[in-house]
Amino acid sequence: MKSRTCPNCGATWIDGQLYWATGQPALEEDLAGLVCNRVDSSECINPQKGSENGVTLAWRINAIKALNEEHDL
Ligand SMILES: [Zn+2]
Repeated sequence: MKSRTCPNCGATWIDGQLYWATGQPALEEDLAGLVCNRVDSSECINPQKGSENGVTLAWRINAIKALNEEHDL
C-alpha cells in the first residue's frame, strides 16, 4: 500500500485514491478547488492543482451550513 500526504492540506492518497484529512474519499478536483488553488504553494502534491472543475467556495459554504444544521438537531 502506497500512501502520500500533501504537506499543505493534509489530504492523503492511498494507492491513488484521495482521502480528505477526515478520512472521507475525495476527488482531486474538489481538493484543488477547496484548498490547493487557494493556498497556491509549490509544496502541494495534488496533480489537479489549478483545476477549476471541482467544487467552489460557494459549495463549501453550503456544505458547512448543512453540517451546522445537522449538528443543531
Ligand atoms: Zn494540497
